[in-house]
Amino acid sequence: MTNTQTWIVLKFGGTSVKSLADWRVISKQVTARLEAGHRALIVHSALSGISDALEDLVIAALENEAEPVLAAIRARHLDLASEMELDGAALLDSYFTGLERLSAGISLTGDASPRLRARIMAHGELMATTLGAAWLNKTGLQAHWLDARTALQALPSDPVSSYLNADCAYDTDTALQARLDDTGAPVVITQGFIAGREDGDTAILGRGGSDTSAAYFAAKLNADRLEIWTDVPGFFSADPRLTGSARQIRALSYEEAQELASMGAGVLHPRAIAPVRKAGIAMQVLCTHQPELDGTRIQATPSEDAPRLKAVSVKHGVRLFTLDNDGMWRTSGFLAKAFEPFAQHGVSIDLVSTSETSVTLSLDEDPALTPEVLDRLRSDLEAIARVELIEDCAAVSLVGRGVRALLAQFGPAMEAFAHYPVRLVSQAANDLNLTVVVDGDQGKALCRRLHDQLIQPKPRDVTFGPSWRELQAQAVDTPSASSPVWWRTKRQALLDLCPADSALYVYDLETVKARASAISGLKNLDRGWYAMKANHQPDVIRTAVEAGLGVECVSMAEVHAARAAVPDLGPDRILFTPNFASRAEYAEAIEMGVHLTLDGLHPLRHWSEIFAGAEITLRINPQRPEGHHKHVRTAGPEAKFGLHADELPEAIDLARKAGAIITGLHVHSGSGISDPEHWRRVGLFLTETARDLPDVKILDLGGGLGVDEASGPRRIDTDALDVMLGELKTAYPNYQLWLEPGRFIVAESGVLLARVNQVKHTPDARFIGINTGMNSLIRPALYGARHDIVNLTRLDEPMDWVADIVGPICETADRLGAQRLMPHTEEGDIILIGNGGAYGRVMASTYNLRQPAGEAVI
Ligand code: ADP
Ligand code: ASP
Ligand code: MG
Repeated sequence: MTNTQTWIVLKFGGTSVKSLADWRVISKQVTARLEAGHRALIVHSALSGISDALEDLVIAALENEAEPVLAAIRARHLDLASEMELDGAALLDSYFTGLERLSAGISLTGDASPRLRARIMAHGELMATTLGAAWLNKTGLQAHWLDARTALQALPSDPVSSYLNADCAYDTDTALQARLDDTGAPVVITQGFIAGREDGDTAILGRGGSDTSAAYFAAKLNADRLEIWTDVPGFFSADPRLTGSARQIRALSYEEAQELASMGAGVLHPRAIAPVRKAGIAMQVLCTHQPELDGTRIQATPSEDAPRLKAVSVKHGVRLFTLDNDGMWRTSGFLAKAFEPFAQHGVSIDLVSTSETSVTLSLDEDPALTPEVLDRLRSDLEAIARVELIEDCAAVSLVGRGVRALLAQFGPAMEAFAHYPVRLVSQAANDLNLTVVVDGDQGKALCRRLHDQLIQPKPRDVTFGPSWRELQAQAVDTPSASSPVWWRTKRQALLDLCPADSALYVYDLETVKARASAISGLKNLDRGWYAMKANHQPDVIRTAVEAGLGVECVSMAEVHAARAAVPDLGPDRILFTPNFASRAEYAEAIEMGVHLTLDGLHPLRHWSEIFAGAEITLRINPQRPEGHHKHVRTAGPEAKFGLHADELPEAIDLARKAGAIITGLHVHSGSGISDPEHWRRVGLFLTETARDLPDVKILDLGGGLGVDEASGPRRIDTDALDVMLGELKTAYPNYQLWLEPGRFIVAESGVLLARVNQVKHTPDARFIGINTGMNSLIRPALYGARHDIVNLTRLDEPMDWVADIVGPICETADRLGAQRLMPHTEEGDIILIGNGGAYGRVMASTYNLRQPAGEAVI
């Protein structure tokens, strides 16, 4: 039978086949390919962790301790089988017995030859595909199980590689096509990672080799497309596990993908590109756990023409050989002689750099590089030069077309190398990468640092999609998340509240109450104060006060607003902490009898008469800035807040002369801090400062408590904070401890609702233009703050747009969110901007004579 339908090859990695939920995704994807008129070949890996376990099994067998490892491997497969409601024992017993026999053989002989290792390793893929095929057939997808060893032929090479790191031929294979046609099955399922040898034995393709298997199959079947399904949606500008700012790369040329994979981007095996490239097959890297995302396309043409740094990657396990022969390397033929032993021992060199007296070469990790091979190589090299071998290095690469032309822009980022001594620098002749080799333990940190400094998405970026952090936020913020944010639960009320032609801040008083109670309920805190500068909406202030907090004000106008909101708010429940305020404000505050904090000498020095008999707190600048953005760091040598420690003696003197009593000390040194240890440091600093101040009884530790934000800080754990406060209190029982949070109380309680005015599509970008912008919410422009943004009208629709959300203000900075995943959006839709309860409406303006959003509570 000849089948004219074209093949799509779908490769699923170990984390994509490990559970029933994964198999449901696989089945859905395969069905969609069939419905589109294709045939599907599934190539997949062993269950995640099983290839590692099989490697452990070899070692355990050598030590005669195979049984516990075998038991774990069996259990893992039987668990999945029972989740799939399959008879695991019946399906897998012959493999389990095979593993027992092979490991017994190793235990008996004390020898684990490459041949035995390959046979053991192959079991992972054989067992997993057996379960996969059985489940697909049970659920009605007619799937033919193919033994990959009968379809992929390992090419002869050296004794180790031919078993453990095999290459295969990948010309169009009409015989295989005919064989698959003959089965008549629309779906074929086979193993990644394994191939057959000419002598009938089993070979493996090296760790991570399933991608390569899939590429071989795609080339042999002349497939329409190769899809690599894994646990991340595509290639990123760095390993997303290393930095959340890693950006999804929308498209790569074969060449770039090859370079990235070779330089350590572990998402794709480096040998998987050549077969599809040669056959001109398009490739896509997709995510099994977010199948709706586009991932990365890999094709012949690059995504953009200009030189562009696309990624920073790190490769571990690199070895460096330095050959030194005292200035002799210029003698003709030295380099040729130096390379010869590598060729003789079948060792491939990756990077080379030469200096006046030496040549340094790097070797990638390779199972064929056994200690014996290295010893032989070394002794051959010693015949011509002094040899130094440095193990365990890391190669960090900047990858992108025309990287040479970009060097000038890297300026300040190159400072990183002051901290990470470089052992080798190499710039690829194809101008696709610039690589430095450093000590192994420094690779990740250097990669992260260079990435975060150098990868800068442009506003209308065709190369980069959303960041990993954004995609994670998207994945977490689904209706199935365990505790949905309040605005999901109250969605209908919000839709009803949103005006047709203006924008509105809405505050959820239950959330305000919950956060305020979390602070007033801290057992070891004496007093908590709501910093009302974050949000002075009267119901919000009232809710915070009713939950047990006092109010911290920074102007007399705020004091009056607080008293207007809560008419019975006595002076003892008001804390006044102004900065550079006028004499009149201090005088009024003292007259009123509120708690007062001074943060400079000027008032005591020039207006001493108003302080007679007053109890005051001094704000100290600890010279140690902390917080999420430089504008919200309020301590440090350049900050305008607080007294410097060396001004303290003078402050004490001035206070005494004025007749004021210093009863409190205060530090506030930043915002968005999630680690309770910060306030311990503040507390210890203040107890130290208080030593010379016998009247001090209050230590005001400030605010800055972190809230949940998609990028950056997490909400502080108030239980941990309480434990820390308790320890501080036990150590210093004579002091009252105060905290004065603002954002923590209100940020998450507020959302900004706005209507879509216009949508704009340019060839490079999409803009969703809403009816308010930086005039209502200036934080993105001012601090680069990231707020969650969703289309509330179409909350659960597929996210197939990447768009900038902009306002109507005539400023480039009027962008509330960049490169966000959004559903198809239309004029009149309601857009919700999260975490808008703090420093939103209070910082609004009428710039461009546009009225900012109004306010409402629910
Ligand atoms: P699979 O088992 O599906 O083959 P792998 O673990 O081999 O999956 O590859 C996916 C992993 O590759 C990701 O989880 C990610 O941590 C890692 N990775 C490393 N570099 C990159 C990169 N530049 N882009 C995307 N993923 C990367
Ligand atoms: N299972 C093999 C490994 O873990 C091959 C693969 O997953 O690509 O290395
Ligand atoms: Mg892989």
